[in-house]
Amino acid sequence: MALLLMLAGMAIVLWAAWTLNLPRGPLYLWTLSSLCAIGLVYMTIRCGWSRNFKDPSLTLQQMALAIACSATGYALTGPVRAIAFPNLMIILMFGMFGLHATSALAISIYALLVFGLSMAVMASISPDIYPPTVEWAHFMMLVVVVPAVSVLSGRLSRIRRRLRQQKEELTVALEQIQLLAAHDELTGLLNRRHMQVLLEQETQRSLRSGEGFCLALLDMDHFKHINDRHGHAAGDAVLRAFSNTAQTVLRRSDVLARWGGEEFVLIQSGISMSLARATMDRLREQVANMELAFGDDFLQISFSAGLTTYRSGECATQTLERADRLLYDAKAQGRNRVVAG
Ligand code: GH3
Ligand code: MG
Ligand code: MG
Repeated sequence: MALLLMLAGMAIVLWAAWTLNLPRGPLYLWTLSSLCAIGLVYMTIRCGWSRNFKDPSLTLQQMALAIACSATGYALTGPVRAIAFPNLMIILMFGMFGLHATSALAISIYALLVFGLSMAVMASISPDIYPPTVEWAHFMMLVVVVPAVSVLSGRLSRIRRRLRQQKEELTVALEQIQLLAAHDELTGLLNRRHMQVLLEQETQRSLRSGEGFCLALLDMDHFKHINDRHGHAAGDAVLRAFSNTAQTVLRRSDVLARWGGEEFVLIQSGISMSLARATMDRLREQVANMELAFGDDFLQISFSAGLTTYRSGECATQTLERADRLLYDAKAQGRNRVVAG
């Protein structure tokens, strides 16, 4: 857009020069050198060379170049030189979006110096077209307006920085919310809501690939007794200890979730029933061998589980119901065991 604006500005200058019969030679030279500069900037950005710069869109460099072109145009266009002023304002406005306050101030001072130089030179070599009083008036107007534009730029860039910071904070907050929404606070395992989503995905994946998965429903044995005897905090500690042990025994691809209370659901995909059963037995042994100290007491815990495989075409609820019936059998057969079916 900056380049298009520069091209349009040049076209207007050339049109005015043509109509008013201004000396063409210097203007053609100015047009040619400006076009070369524009082409160079365009190539630098297009070819990706500008990526080596801190600001790949070369805002400051483009502005400095455009201001220099504009001030030279001011010196060459005599009676219509005022067209350089709106042009300068547009150039400064481009900086508002990309520059820090200090860079905006630096480019404003540069603009005043370059335009001041152009005015001083023209007032001394061609005072009939560039009367010194008029040039002073022009310069003073720039001295007032240009810093104001740079102050506005500073404000805009502060607003943009704040917005970017707020956006980053929101992204972090959203990640935390997503983490909290998917995990159980006590054990850090996935929660029931997220497990239901995963189960749905797993059944879909299984239907597509034809590869089933094993599902187990685990329930701590006599958990009420632990709570009654040692207190609720001890019960919580047992749940945490169980989840820590489970995570050391299970594979990374196994998914364990807290289904509710002292019940857990485990999905093992890409594995045969016999392997899944072996994993469950290993976990059961590890948990049964855990010794948890509460005061002077050493507590031993166990769980019972129902293990089944997903049958193609059924919904996850049916698989869960089957696992639940097998869990009931495991409890009925004396607990601390895995019943598969
Ligand atoms: P069973 O072997 O038949 O499963 O016996 P149980 O005592 O484990 O079964 P029951 O379902 O009667 O008891 C589960 C207990 O788990 C009851 C409830 O107070 C306790 N419980 C559920 N959630 C939590 C929890 O987050 N923390 C603690 N400490 N206890 C919990
Ligand atoms: Mg229970
Ligand atoms: Mg229980």
